[in-house]
Amino acid sequence: MSGGQHEQCIACGSKMRTFIEHISDDRYGCPGVYSIDRCVSCGHMSTAPRLTEEDLPALYSNYYPRREIDFNALEKEAGLVERPFARLRRWMAGTDNQGHYLAKPGQKVLDIGCGSCLSLLEMQKLGVECWGVEADPNVRTIAEKYALRVHIGNIYDVPFADQNFDLIVLNQVIEHVPDPLAMLEALKNRLNSGGRVILAFPNTGSFHRKVWKERWINWHIPYHQNHFNRTSFALLAQKSGYDVARIRTITPNLWSVLQLRTSREQRQEGRASGTWSESGSFEKSPSFIRKLRNVTVTRGARLAGAMMGFVNRALDATGQGDSLLVELRLSATKN
Ligand SMILES: [Zn+2]
Repeated sequence: MSGGQHEQCIACGSKMRTFIEHISDDRYGCPGVYSIDRCVSCGHMSTAPRLTEEDLPALYSNYYPRREIDFNALEKEAGLVERPFARLRRWMAGTDNQGHYLAKPGQKVLDIGCGSCLSLLEMQKLGVECWGVEADPNVRTIAEKYALRVHIGNIYDVPFADQNFDLIVLNQVIEHVPDPLAMLEALKNRLNSGGRVILAFPNTGSFHRKVWKERWINWHIPYHQNHFNRTSFALLAQKSGYDVARIRTITPNLWSVLQLRTSREQRQEGRASGTWSESGSFEKSPSFIRKLRNVTVTRGARLAGAMMGFVNRALDATGQGDSLLVELRLSATKN
């Protein structure tokens, strides 16, 4: 561990300097104070002290809320992918910041960190052959119910060993991983020839990050270990033997709504935020009053989201959106 010393930048090897001195878990109230270091050369940021793979099970099982899944809500959400103009709707809402939407019918896709399995259900409806990997054992119930091929564990277990993939998707995953370089390298020999790795993760070069500073929702301390910008991510990708085929920014309107809601909250180390404890979309809500309130909040949020959409689409077009969507191919100059 760092012991107060700055480590080297994982993307370019340069020196890191403290960028945010004091930051803690403002979503789920996990105790502990962290800082964010910034590379003097490429601007890459890392959470300090760094966590290791061994730290993660306790952190996630104690503080990351996973409740009972509402299967009806999940199925309803997955069905939206077949609605008319689904693509246009996703573009307007900024929800197409997810790699699996780039999959074509008949392709073989591995989704790493598939969570609720929504992406797998959507891909099935779109005629995509899909597999998933997820660390959370609670997801097994969902996989079994829908007969989905999900490996509970991680990519280093070499799941589905006899299968290679046209696309490997990591939606909001790489920023959580203690060693993203090792992760990218582990994926290289799981690609079919011409295959791509598609990653979505927060963009520290975004307009929202600059406006909200240490209150930006995507610091998500301590779960987010690395905070990329387009330069630092491209450097890391090259280092692990990939070329960046395409890179763009997308801002989910929901993120902006959550950003506005949390900005009014008092923050205190070790205390969970009301916004985040209520925002899980497939969780069973206990009381009628809570349901009623959720409907009101959701309608208000949709309206606010639609208005914010105009701003977000303009930010995305200028490359200043809140989430990066990156497509990687194996480097042509690979030895
Ligand atoms: Zn750097």
